Amino acid sequence: MLKTDLAGATAGLTLPRAIPLEVTRVVRETADAVSLVLLPADPDASALNYHPGQFLTLRIPRADGGAVGRCYSISSSPFVREALQVTVKRTRDGYGSNWLCDNARVGQRLDTLAPAGRFVPDDLDADLLLIAGGSGVTPMRSIMTSALAKGRGRITLIYVNRDDASVIFAAKLARLARAHPERLRVIHWLTSRRGKPTTTCLQTLTAPYRTYSAFICGPAGLMAAASEALAANGMPPEHIALETFTSLAGDPFAAVPTLPEAADGAHLELDHYGETRRLTWPGDTVLLDLLLGRGLEVAYSCREGSCGTCICVVERGKVRMLRNYVLSAADLARGYVLACQSLPDAADCKVVF
Ligand SMILES: Cc1cc2nc3c(=O)[nH]c(=O)nc-3n(C[C@H](O)[C@H](O)[C@H](O)COP(=O)(O)OP(=O)(O)OC[C@H]3O[C@@H](n4cnc5c(N)ncnc54)[C@H](O)[C@@H]3O)c2cc1C
Repeated sequence: MLKTDLAGATAGLTLPRAIPLEVTRVVRETADAVSLVLLPADPDASALNYHPGQFLTLRIPRADGGAVGRCYSISSSPFVREALQVTVKRTRDGYGSNWLCDNARVGQRLDTLAPAGRFVPDDLDADLLLIAGGSGVTPMRSIMTSALAKGRGRITLIYVNRDDASVIFAAKLARLARAHPERLRVIHWLTSRRGKPTTTCLQTLTAPYRTYSAFICGPAGLMAAASEALAANGMPPEHIALETFTSLAGDPFAAVPTLPEAADGAHLELDHYGETRRLTWPGDTVLLDLLLGRGLEVAYSCREGSCGTCICVVERGKVRMLRNYVLSAADLARGYVLACQSLPDAADCKVVF
Protein backbone atom coordinates (compact mmCIF):
# COMPACT_ATOMS: atom_id res chain seq x y z
CA MET A 1 0.00 0.00 0.00
CA LEU A 2 1.31 3.48 -0.86
CA LYS A 3 2.05 5.81 2.03
CA THR A 4 -0.78 8.14 1.01
CA ASP A 5 -3.27 5.23 0.85
CA LEU A 6 -2.19 4.16 4.31
CA ALA A 7 -2.69 7.67 5.63
CA GLY A 8 -6.16 7.71 4.08
CA ALA A 9 -7.04 4.30 5.46
CA THR A 10 -6.11 5.28 9.00
CA ALA A 11 -7.51 8.82 9.01
CA GLY A 12 -9.86 9.17 11.98
CA LEU A 13 -8.23 6.23 13.76
CA THR A 14 -5.74 6.09 16.61
CA LEU A 15 -3.30 3.24 16.05
CA PRO A 16 -1.97 1.41 19.12
CA ARG A 17 1.69 1.71 19.95
CA ALA A 18 3.15 -1.40 18.36
CA ILE A 19 6.85 -1.81 19.16
CA PRO A 20 8.90 -3.65 16.52
CA LEU A 21 11.17 -6.50 17.64
CA GLU A 22 13.57 -8.75 15.76
CA VAL A 23 13.88 -12.44 16.56
CA THR A 24 17.61 -13.03 17.14
CA ARG A 25 17.48 -16.63 18.35
CA VAL A 26 14.96 -19.46 18.50
CA VAL A 27 15.76 -21.93 21.30
CA ARG A 28 14.00 -25.30 21.32
CA GLU A 29 13.32 -25.86 25.02
CA THR A 30 11.27 -29.09 24.72
CA ALA A 31 9.50 -30.95 21.89
CA ASP A 32 6.60 -28.47 22.10
CA ALA A 33 8.09 -25.26 23.52
CA VAL A 34 10.43 -22.64 22.10
CA SER A 35 12.01 -19.51 23.51
CA LEU A 36 12.24 -16.49 21.24
CA VAL A 37 15.12 -14.13 21.98
CA LEU A 38 14.07 -10.65 20.91
CA LEU A 39 15.91 -7.45 20.11
CA PRO A 40 14.16 -4.07 19.87
CA ALA A 41 14.32 -2.90 16.27
CA ASP A 42 14.38 0.72 17.51
CA PRO A 43 17.62 1.78 19.24
CA ASP A 44 15.52 3.61 21.89
CA ALA A 45 14.28 0.55 23.75
CA SER A 46 12.92 2.35 26.82
CA ALA A 47 9.35 1.36 25.91
CA LEU A 48 10.44 -2.23 26.53
CA ASN A 49 11.62 -1.72 30.12
CA TYR A 50 9.92 -4.42 32.17
CA HIS A 51 9.45 -5.87 35.62
CA PRO A 52 10.00 -9.57 36.37
CA GLY A 53 6.70 -11.42 35.87
CA GLN A 54 5.34 -9.11 33.14
CA PHE A 55 4.33 -10.21 29.63
CA LEU A 56 4.46 -9.02 26.03
CA THR A 57 1.45 -8.97 23.72
CA LEU A 58 2.69 -10.20 20.34
CA ARG A 59 0.96 -9.52 17.03
CA ILE A 60 0.67 -12.80 15.13
CA PRO A 61 -0.30 -12.54 11.45
CA ARG A 62 -3.26 -14.44 10.05
CA ALA A 63 -3.42 -15.84 6.52
CA ASP A 64 -6.23 -13.39 5.59
CA GLY A 65 -3.96 -10.39 6.22
CA GLY A 66 -5.35 -9.71 9.71
CA ALA A 67 -3.70 -10.56 12.99
CA VAL A 68 -4.35 -11.86 16.48
CA GLY A 69 -2.77 -10.61 19.69
CA ARG A 70 -1.39 -13.17 22.15
CA CYS A 71 0.23 -12.56 25.53
CA TYR A 72 3.52 -14.30 26.41
CA SER A 73 5.25 -13.89 29.75
CA ILE A 74 8.80 -12.62 29.60
CA SER A 75 11.10 -15.43 30.71
CA SER A 76 14.29 -13.34 30.89
CA SER A 77 15.26 -11.07 33.79
CA PRO A 78 15.82 -7.31 33.58
CA PHE A 79 18.42 -7.63 36.36
CA VAL A 80 20.98 -9.88 34.67
CA ARG A 81 22.79 -9.46 31.37
CA GLU A 82 20.44 -11.36 29.09
CA ALA A 83 18.32 -10.39 26.12
CA LEU A 84 14.56 -10.05 26.22
CA GLN A 85 12.96 -13.47 25.81
CA VAL A 86 9.53 -15.09 25.77
CA THR A 87 8.80 -18.81 25.89
CA VAL A 88 5.88 -20.30 23.97
CA LYS A 89 4.40 -23.76 24.42
CA ARG A 90 2.11 -25.24 21.78
CA THR A 91 -1.57 -25.34 22.71
CA ARG A 92 -3.30 -28.21 20.93
CA ASP A 93 -5.29 -26.80 17.96
CA GLY A 94 -4.39 -23.28 19.04
CA TYR A 95 -3.55 -20.73 16.34
CA GLY A 96 -0.99 -18.32 17.80
CA SER A 97 1.24 -20.69 19.78
CA ASN A 98 1.56 -23.11 16.86
CA TRP A 99 2.20 -20.27 14.42
CA LEU A 100 5.07 -19.03 16.59
CA CYS A 101 6.51 -22.51 17.17
CA ASP A 102 6.35 -23.31 13.44
CA ASN A 103 7.23 -19.95 11.88
CA ALA A 104 9.49 -17.94 14.20
CA ARG A 105 12.85 -17.48 12.45
CA VAL A 106 16.04 -15.53 13.15
CA GLY A 107 15.76 -12.12 11.51
CA GLN A 108 11.96 -12.12 11.57
CA ARG A 109 10.13 -9.00 12.75
CA LEU A 110 7.39 -9.24 15.35
CA ASP A 111 5.37 -6.40 16.82
CA THR A 112 4.54 -6.19 20.50
CA LEU A 113 2.67 -3.89 22.82
CA ALA A 114 4.62 -2.53 25.79
CA PRO A 115 5.35 -4.97 28.65
CA ALA A 116 2.36 -5.20 30.98
CA GLY A 117 0.90 -7.10 33.90
CA ARG A 118 0.79 -7.13 37.69
CA PHE A 119 2.20 -10.61 38.38
CA VAL A 120 5.24 -8.89 39.82
CA PRO A 121 6.78 -9.22 43.30
CA ASP A 122 6.46 -6.00 45.35
CA ASP A 123 9.75 -6.80 47.05
CA LEU A 124 12.58 -8.87 45.57
CA ASP A 125 13.97 -9.39 49.10
CA ALA A 126 10.83 -11.30 50.15
CA ASP A 127 10.75 -15.09 50.54
CA LEU A 128 8.95 -16.41 47.46
CA LEU A 129 6.95 -19.57 46.86
CA LEU A 130 6.49 -20.14 43.13
CA ILE A 131 4.03 -22.82 41.97
CA ALA A 132 4.04 -23.50 38.22
CA GLY A 133 2.66 -26.03 35.79
CA GLY A 134 4.00 -26.44 32.22
CA SER A 135 4.47 -23.08 30.46
CA GLY A 136 3.46 -21.37 33.73
CA VAL A 137 7.16 -21.50 34.57
CA THR A 138 7.94 -18.64 32.15
CA PRO A 139 7.15 -15.72 34.49
CA MET A 140 8.65 -17.75 37.36
CA ARG A 141 12.02 -17.94 35.62
CA SER A 142 12.07 -14.14 35.32
CA ILE A 143 10.98 -13.67 38.93
CA MET A 144 13.45 -16.17 40.41
CA THR A 145 16.42 -15.00 38.32
CA SER A 146 15.65 -11.41 39.32
CA ALA A 147 15.20 -12.22 43.02
CA LEU A 148 18.43 -14.25 43.07
CA ALA A 149 20.32 -11.38 41.39
CA LYS A 150 18.81 -8.44 43.28
CA GLY A 151 17.16 -9.77 46.43
CA ARG A 152 18.15 -11.62 49.57
CA GLY A 153 15.15 -13.89 50.27
CA ARG A 154 14.66 -17.63 49.94
CA ILE A 155 12.82 -19.07 46.94
CA THR A 156 11.04 -22.39 46.48
CA LEU A 157 9.72 -23.42 43.07
CA ILE A 158 7.20 -26.28 42.89
CA TYR A 159 7.06 -27.21 39.22
CA VAL A 160 4.47 -29.67 37.88
CA ASN A 161 4.93 -31.39 34.50
CA ARG A 162 3.79 -34.53 32.76
CA ASP A 163 7.26 -36.15 32.51
CA ASP A 164 10.98 -35.34 32.39
CA ALA A 165 10.86 -34.52 28.67
CA SER A 166 8.24 -31.80 29.16
CA VAL A 167 10.17 -29.82 31.80
CA ILE A 168 10.93 -26.40 30.28
CA PHE A 169 14.26 -24.89 31.50
CA ALA A 170 15.25 -28.19 33.23
CA ALA A 171 19.00 -27.61 32.87
CA LYS A 172 18.79 -23.88 33.65
CA LEU A 173 16.79 -24.53 36.83
CA ALA A 174 19.29 -27.19 37.94
CA ARG A 175 22.17 -24.74 37.33
CA LEU A 176 20.45 -21.98 39.31
CA ALA A 177 19.73 -24.36 42.22
CA ARG A 178 23.40 -25.49 42.26
CA ALA A 179 24.59 -21.88 42.20
CA HIS A 180 22.29 -20.81 45.08
CA PRO A 181 21.93 -23.86 47.36
CA GLU A 182 21.02 -21.77 50.43
CA ARG A 183 18.42 -19.66 48.67
CA LEU A 184 16.76 -21.71 45.91
CA ARG A 185 14.94 -25.02 46.17
CA VAL A 186 13.35 -26.56 43.06
CA ILE A 187 10.79 -29.32 43.65
CA HIS A 188 9.76 -31.18 40.48
CA TRP A 189 6.43 -33.01 40.45
CA LEU A 190 5.92 -35.35 37.48
CA THR A 191 2.30 -36.40 36.98
CA SER A 192 3.34 -39.50 34.99
CA ARG A 193 4.90 -40.81 38.22
CA ARG A 194 2.83 -39.27 41.01
CA GLY A 195 -0.50 -38.28 39.41
CA LYS A 196 -1.84 -34.71 39.60
CA PRO A 197 -1.06 -33.01 42.90
CA THR A 198 -4.19 -32.82 45.04
CA THR A 199 -5.06 -29.97 47.38
CA THR A 200 -4.10 -32.17 50.34
CA CYS A 201 -0.68 -33.04 48.84
CA LEU A 202 -0.05 -29.38 48.05
CA GLN A 203 -1.12 -28.35 51.53
CA THR A 204 1.51 -30.66 53.03
CA LEU A 205 4.16 -29.64 50.48
CA THR A 206 3.62 -25.90 50.98
CA ALA A 207 3.14 -25.91 54.77
CA PRO A 208 6.74 -24.79 55.49
CA TYR A 209 6.24 -21.71 53.27
CA ARG A 210 3.12 -20.15 54.79
CA THR A 211 4.96 -16.90 55.58
CA TYR A 212 6.24 -16.52 52.00
CA SER A 213 4.67 -14.52 49.12
CA ALA A 214 3.15 -16.96 46.64
CA PHE A 215 2.93 -16.79 42.83
CA ILE A 216 0.84 -19.40 41.00
CA CYS A 217 0.62 -19.98 37.25
CA GLY A 218 -0.41 -23.08 35.34
CA PRO A 219 -3.43 -25.13 34.28
CA ALA A 220 -6.72 -24.17 35.94
CA GLY A 221 -6.88 -27.36 38.07
CA LEU A 222 -3.40 -26.83 39.52
CA MET A 223 -4.08 -23.15 40.20
CA ALA A 224 -7.32 -23.96 42.05
CA ALA A 225 -5.72 -26.77 44.09
CA ALA A 226 -2.68 -24.63 44.96
CA SER A 227 -4.83 -21.63 45.97
CA GLU A 228 -6.98 -23.84 48.21
CA ALA A 229 -3.89 -25.44 49.76
CA LEU A 230 -2.31 -22.08 50.58
CA ALA A 231 -5.58 -20.74 52.02
CA ALA A 232 -5.90 -23.89 54.14
CA ASN A 233 -2.35 -23.26 55.42
CA GLY A 234 -3.46 -19.79 56.53
CA MET A 235 -1.63 -17.75 53.87
CA PRO A 236 -3.43 -14.37 53.57
CA PRO A 237 -5.06 -13.80 50.15
CA GLU A 238 -3.06 -10.60 49.63
CA HIS A 239 0.12 -12.73 49.69
CA ILE A 240 -1.09 -14.93 46.81
CA ALA A 241 -0.80 -13.76 43.18
CA LEU A 242 -2.33 -15.69 40.30
CA GLU A 243 -1.61 -15.43 36.56
CA THR A 244 -4.15 -17.07 34.26
CA PHE A 245 -3.00 -17.92 30.72
CA THR A 246 -5.90 -17.24 28.37
CA SER A 247 -6.14 -16.03 24.78
CA LEU A 248 -7.43 -12.56 24.02
CA ALA A 249 -10.82 -12.58 22.30
CA GLY A 250 -10.30 -9.30 20.44
CA ASP A 251 -7.37 -7.73 18.63
CA PRO A 252 -5.50 -5.32 20.91
CA PHE A 253 -3.65 -3.97 17.85
CA ALA A 254 -6.88 -2.85 16.19
CA ALA A 255 -7.18 0.89 15.63
CA VAL A 256 -9.44 2.95 17.90
CA PRO A 257 -11.76 5.40 16.13
CA THR A 258 -11.10 9.09 16.74
CA LEU A 259 -13.95 10.58 18.79
CA PRO A 260 -15.31 14.09 18.28
CA GLU A 261 -16.24 16.13 21.37
CA ALA A 262 -19.48 14.56 22.67
CA ALA A 263 -22.58 16.68 23.30
CA ASP A 264 -24.04 14.41 26.01
CA GLY A 265 -22.50 12.46 28.80
CA ALA A 266 -21.00 12.64 32.24
CA HIS A 267 -18.66 15.46 33.17
CA LEU A 268 -15.16 14.04 33.50
CA GLU A 269 -12.31 15.80 35.26
CA LEU A 270 -9.23 13.92 34.18
CA ASP A 271 -5.87 14.12 35.91
CA HIS A 272 -3.77 12.89 33.00
CA TYR A 273 -0.31 12.29 34.51
CA GLY A 274 -0.46 15.61 36.34
CA GLU A 275 -2.27 17.66 33.69
CA THR A 276 -5.96 18.47 34.25
CA ARG A 277 -8.41 18.05 31.37
CA ARG A 278 -12.19 18.27 31.22
CA LEU A 279 -14.09 15.97 28.87
CA THR A 280 -17.65 14.89 28.21
CA TRP A 281 -17.85 11.14 28.76
CA PRO A 282 -20.65 9.42 26.76
CA GLY A 283 -22.46 6.71 28.74
CA ASP A 284 -21.72 4.01 26.14
CA THR A 285 -17.98 4.65 25.72
CA VAL A 286 -15.39 2.97 27.91
CA LEU A 287 -12.88 5.39 29.38
CA LEU A 288 -9.90 3.99 27.45
CA ASP A 289 -11.66 4.43 24.10
CA LEU A 290 -12.66 7.97 25.08
CA LEU A 291 -9.06 8.92 25.91
CA LEU A 292 -7.46 7.19 22.91
CA GLY A 293 -10.22 8.55 20.66
CA ARG A 294 -9.45 12.07 21.86
CA GLY A 295 -5.75 11.55 21.13
CA LEU A 296 -4.58 11.18 24.75
CA GLU A 297 -1.80 8.70 25.45
CA VAL A 298 -2.56 6.07 28.07
CA ALA A 299 -0.74 2.83 28.83
CA TYR A 300 -2.87 -0.20 27.93
CA SER A 301 -2.50 -3.69 26.60
CA CYS A 302 -5.26 -6.34 26.47
CA ARG A 303 -8.35 -4.07 26.38
CA GLU A 304 -10.25 -7.01 27.91
CA GLY A 305 -10.02 -6.38 31.66
CA SER A 306 -7.35 -8.97 32.30
CA CYS A 307 -3.91 -7.33 32.30
CA GLY A 308 -4.35 -4.29 34.55
CA THR A 309 -2.16 -1.98 32.47
CA CYS A 310 -4.79 0.78 32.11
CA ILE A 311 -5.39 0.99 35.87
CA CYS A 312 -6.50 4.39 37.19
CA VAL A 313 -8.20 5.79 40.29
CA VAL A 314 -11.72 7.18 40.60
CA GLU A 315 -11.47 10.09 43.04
CA ARG A 316 -14.99 11.47 42.58
CA GLY A 317 -18.24 10.04 41.24
CA LYS A 318 -18.67 6.42 40.26
CA VAL A 319 -17.91 4.13 37.32
CA ARG A 320 -19.29 0.76 36.32
CA MET A 321 -16.85 -1.89 35.13
CA LEU A 322 -18.02 -4.34 32.47
CA ARG A 323 -15.40 -6.99 33.35
CA ASN A 324 -12.56 -7.28 35.83
CA TYR A 325 -10.26 -10.29 35.96
CA VAL A 326 -7.33 -8.60 37.64
CA LEU A 327 -8.24 -6.11 40.39
CA SER A 328 -8.71 -7.50 43.89
CA ALA A 329 -11.43 -6.47 46.34
CA ALA A 330 -8.79 -4.38 48.13
CA ASP A 331 -7.87 -2.61 44.84
CA LEU A 332 -11.55 -1.82 44.18
CA ALA A 333 -12.03 -0.53 47.72
CA ARG A 334 -9.16 1.93 47.09
CA GLY A 335 -10.96 3.25 43.99
CA TYR A 336 -8.83 1.49 41.36
CA VAL A 337 -10.60 0.71 38.08
CA LEU A 338 -9.62 -0.46 34.60
CA ALA A 339 -10.04 2.24 31.97
CA CYS A 340 -10.73 -0.34 29.24
CA GLN A 341 -13.83 -1.59 31.10
CA SER A 342 -15.17 1.57 32.79
CA LEU A 343 -18.39 3.36 31.89
CA PRO A 344 -19.57 6.45 33.78
CA ASP A 345 -22.13 5.78 36.52
CA ALA A 346 -22.43 9.33 37.91
CA ALA A 347 -22.97 12.73 36.30
CA ASP A 348 -19.64 14.05 37.60
CA CYS A 349 -16.48 11.96 37.86
CA LYS A 350 -12.82 12.61 38.58
CA VAL A 351 -10.29 10.03 37.38
CA VAL A 352 -6.55 10.11 38.00
CA PHE A 353 -3.85 8.37 35.92
C1 LIG B 1 -0.75 -12.81 30.84
C2 LIG B 1 -0.57 -14.03 29.97
C3 LIG B 1 0.68 -14.59 29.84
C4 LIG B 1 0.86 -15.73 29.07
N1 LIG B 1 2.12 -16.27 28.97
C5 LIG B 1 2.31 -17.39 28.24
C6 LIG B 1 3.61 -17.97 28.14
O1 LIG B 1 4.58 -17.47 28.71
N2 LIG B 1 3.76 -19.08 27.38
C7 LIG B 1 2.70 -19.66 26.73
O2 LIG B 1 2.90 -20.67 26.04
N3 LIG B 1 1.44 -19.13 26.82
C8 LIG B 1 1.23 -18.00 27.54
N4 LIG B 1 -0.02 -17.44 27.60
C9 LIG B 1 -1.12 -18.04 26.84
C10 LIG B 1 -1.11 -17.48 25.40
O3 LIG B 1 -1.43 -16.10 25.42
C11 LIG B 1 -2.17 -18.16 24.52
O4 LIG B 1 -3.41 -18.13 25.19
C12 LIG B 1 -1.78 -19.59 24.19
O5 LIG B 1 -0.53 -19.62 23.52
C13 LIG B 1 -2.84 -20.23 23.29
O6 LIG B 1 -3.03 -19.43 22.18
P1 LIG B 1 -3.32 -20.04 20.72
O7 LIG B 1 -3.54 -18.92 19.80
O8 LIG B 1 -2.31 -21.07 20.37
O9 LIG B 1 -4.64 -20.82 20.99
P2 LIG B 1 -6.13 -20.34 20.58
O10 LIG B 1 -6.25 -20.30 19.12
O11 LIG B 1 -6.43 -19.11 21.33
O12 LIG B 1 -6.94 -21.54 21.14
C14 LIG B 1 -6.90 -21.87 22.51
C15 LIG B 1 -7.72 -23.13 22.74
O13 LIG B 1 -9.07 -22.86 22.42
C16 LIG B 1 -9.51 -23.76 21.42
N5 LIG B 1 -10.34 -22.98 20.48
C17 LIG B 1 -9.95 -21.99 19.65
N6 LIG B 1 -10.99 -21.49 18.99
C18 LIG B 1 -12.07 -22.18 19.40
C19 LIG B 1 -13.45 -22.16 19.09
N7 LIG B 1 -13.94 -21.29 18.20
N8 LIG B 1 -14.26 -23.01 19.73
C20 LIG B 1 -13.81 -23.88 20.64
N9 LIG B 1 -12.51 -23.96 20.97
C21 LIG B 1 -11.66 -23.15 20.36
C22 LIG B 1 -8.28 -24.30 20.73
O14 LIG B 1 -8.48 -25.58 20.23
C23 LIG B 1 -7.28 -24.30 21.85
O15 LIG B 1 -7.33 -25.49 22.59
C24 LIG B 1 -0.23 -16.30 28.38
C25 LIG B 1 -1.50 -15.70 28.49
C26 LIG B 1 -1.67 -14.58 29.27
C27 LIG B 1 -3.02 -13.93 29.38
